[in-house]
Amino acid sequence: MGGIFGLCLHDECATDLFFGTDYHSHLGTRRGGMAVFDGKHYNRAIHNIENSPFRTKFEDDLSEMHGFIGIGCISDSNPQPVIIDSKMGVLAAVTVGRINNKQDIVRHLMSDGNSYFTEMSGGGINDTELVAALISRKDNVPDGIRYAQSQIDGSMTMLISADGGIYAARDRLGRTPLSIAKKDGEKGGYCVSLESSAYINLGYKTCHTLGPGEVVFLTPDKMETVVAPSKEMRMCTFLFFFYGFPTSDYEGVNVEEMRYRCGKSMAAEDKQAGSAVEVDFVAGIPDSGTPHAIGYANESKIPFARPLVKYTPTWPRSFMPRDQSVRNLIARMKLIPVDSLIHNKRLLLVDDSIVRGTQLRGIMDELLSYGAKELHGRVACPPILYDCKYLNFTRTARENETISRQTILDLEGGSQINENHVCQYAQFGTKQYRNMVELIRKKLNLSTLEYHSLDGMLDSVGIEKCKLCTYCWNGKE
Ligand code: SF4
Repeated sequence: MGGIFGLCLHDECATDLFFGTDYHSHLGTRRGGMAVFDGKHYNRAIHNIENSPFRTKFEDDLSEMHGFIGIGCISDSNPQPVIIDSKMGVLAAVTVGRINNKQDIVRHLMSDGNSYFTEMSGGGINDTELVAALISRKDNVPDGIRYAQSQIDGSMTMLISADGGIYAARDRLGRTPLSIAKKDGEKGGYCVSLESSAYINLGYKTCHTLGPGEVVFLTPDKMETVVAPSKEMRMCTFLFFFYGFPTSDYEGVNVEEMRYRCGKSMAAEDKQAGSAVEVDFVAGIPDSGTPHAIGYANESKIPFARPLVKYTPTWPRSFMPRDQSVRNLIARMKLIPVDSLIHNKRLLLVDDSIVRGTQLRGIMDELLSYGAKELHGRVACPPILYDCKYLNFTRTARENETISRQTILDLEGGSQINENHVCQYAQFGTKQYRNMVELIRKKLNLSTLEYHSLDGMLDSVGIEKCKLCTYCWNGKE
């Protein structure tokens, strides 16, 4: 997916930019970038972060970067920031999102005067360059951003450094969050960030959360809304449950606390449906299953334990080999078991979601080999049935490789899923849904398996349901 961070200060901004961008490292694994404006020129650095963390790669660039305005990003796809010269002057841009109609936009721009775009090493055109080209069609940046948003099918949140400040623009339906924070004092100013957790340790305090489609212009002295927010919203629910950092707030909701509520709701659903089980411990699949498990344990009054502990010091999040079997091996090596919490114990394991299921199956096999007596699975969100078409999430499986779709294929036979049938499997409690969950349970070697209902999941977020995107689970836009 990726993350973006920017700031305008009365002081040198590179150090805050460095840490603020680094605090988005959990959102992407491929490239990092920073650009700092000294009033005349941009100094930019872009590095591959696949095999070593952002901080290691950018440490040496810091001494070269001077200026009061800066933007940075962690990206899973395009090299960014992009810097272009336009009739509005030189612009620097970072983006996060996805463009589904890229070829149409390129064709349109080419037929209308744009003579070329830079081709990336993978053969595609850089999304951020395309966004910058769209913006530069208009006479000023706010109109350009509005135009770009109207042309893009998908979603695009962006920071544009221009006019002596930064334009911060949230995507049309607010799929990704964006908040602004202020640091007081002579050397202070404003920062803007996808993750609000990124500026807490840097001494900034949240002063505004952008609404869907809103554009705000920041300088070191002021922040001003230049395009008003719209009402309709479809914030990415998956950010709350898995991708987002626990200490962030989205739409005024803290992610860690929300995950406790989610666990509590799963325990309540088990109780109501008669599917609660007697176990010795509730445990989370590290790391993102853990807060959901704490919520479940608190509500069910079953002790929380960590039978598997993640070894983090030498395994950076960004180390993500392409080969699935190597990824599985690494996932296994990262988790070290605690024998006395596993041997002869009945465990209820909570995970945030199940995508392909191969790593989870590996963990269950390990726990059984260490002598676990019973294993029960609970999942914080419903079965994933549709590929995200709004954000560039790098899941480890394509739509038809998810365990849910593979299981539908097993149940229905044939080589292709009848799409008209998928909605019946997506509906909590139908015969098809129960059959699918039962077969997944068997595949994962579990004694029981329950997924959180869609309503339970949405209720536990704590904002109006109609403002949350549910496409992953029910295919509804
Ligand atoms: S489809 Fe899923 S991952 Fe994509 S924006 Fe919606 S909730 Fe998020």
